[in-house]
Amino acid sequence: MNFEQGPIRPPSEADSLFVRVTRNCPWNKCLFCHVYKGKKFSRRSVEEIKDDILAMERGASRVESYALKIDSSGRITREVLEYIYHHEPNLLQIAFWLYRGGKNVFLQDGDNLTMPADKLAEILIFIREQFPTVERITTYTRAKTAGRRSVAELAMLKEAGLTRVHVGLETGYNPLLDYMRKGITAEEHIEAGLKIKEAGLSLSEYVILGLGGRSMWKEHALETAKVLSKIDPNFIRLRTLAMREDIPLLEKVHLGEFQLSNDDEIVVEEKLLLENLHGTGYLVSDHILNLLEDVEGNLARDKTSMLKIIDNYLSLPAEERANFCLGRRLGIYRYMRDMEDAERYEQVSKLRRHLIETGQDQDEFLIQYRGNFI
Ligand code: SF4
Repeated sequence: MNFEQGPIRPPSEADSLFVRVTRNCPWNKCLFCHVYKGKKFSRRSVEEIKDDILAMERGASRVESYALKIDSSGRITREVLEYIYHHEPNLLQIAFWLYRGGKNVFLQDGDNLTMPADKLAEILIFIREQFPTVERITTYTRAKTAGRRSVAELAMLKEAGLTRVHVGLETGYNPLLDYMRKGITAEEHIEAGLKIKEAGLSLSEYVILGLGGRSMWKEHALETAKVLSKIDPNFIRLRTLAMREDIPLLEKVHLGEFQLSNDDEIVVEEKLLLENLHGTGYLVSDHILNLLEDVEGNLARDKTSMLKIIDNYLSLPAEERANFCLGRRLGIYRYMRDMEDAERYEQVSKLRRHLIETGQDQDEFLIQYRGNFI
């Protein structure tokens, strides 16, 4: 199919159709981020984007005509997907999207509110015209950019069809925002978040556990909780810091200037964050990088049960915590209760023994291993 696709989307948008509105990130300086490094930011023209949407619409029509041939009801079934896989694999993405209901669209790349509001509104309206089944359209944006938009402009985007905005807060601690070259202050984050909410848009704020390392973890947790409690976004989505060769922060790690926290330290930090967090939105751990994936729930209703999951982990004997971390990272466990499966527990214990016998430090191994998931 002849349309552009960007490199990433949030996990919550896995079932969405991706429409690339801008390319890369206009800021591109954050020390912990590798996604768009070395790539130049540009805005795509409305015509280009509309051409992509029309190409997607033609693709959807083709999928629907295959579905009608296979089943007179025209339903997109697994059989239809299989047929497309074998006969026109370039339609698979659109076929899967339709199979999952064809309801959600995610606008790529990193900062789409850099588009003039009237042009972005034109695109949003066009998407809904071409795909009347669409119920939700979301986008990433930098809070700095959102903060430059008036509430009236943001409300106009909502009116045109924008549903939710995903924003990387990362931390609410100003010295850490500065150190990580995020290019924004906590106060600006609050202002932008409140504006987005006032415009009636749903707001997802992302936080990176471990971002403060060993020297700033406490301030990171406390100040982030403070900022998020003031914004009270609809969703707070947790991520965990991970390193790979193309992340600029790694140089500071090698120099010994930044010390990465291990899994236990990150869970202690998560607890401090959650204890100090107040609001009505949902805390979500929807990323494989998070050790405790089941720490999820409504802040007003489920805080106690979320803290209990954290306490359960922290009260495990050291050997079991180490076993869980290794098993979770290697995909053998998902939840702590999976350790009750004796076969899996022994499988992980064997791997732990191997690490110890070969002189490998488990923390270092896991820190390196986390890099495979970004
Ligand atoms: S603003 Fe977002 S996409 Fe851009 S460099 Fe920072 S983290 Fe990466």
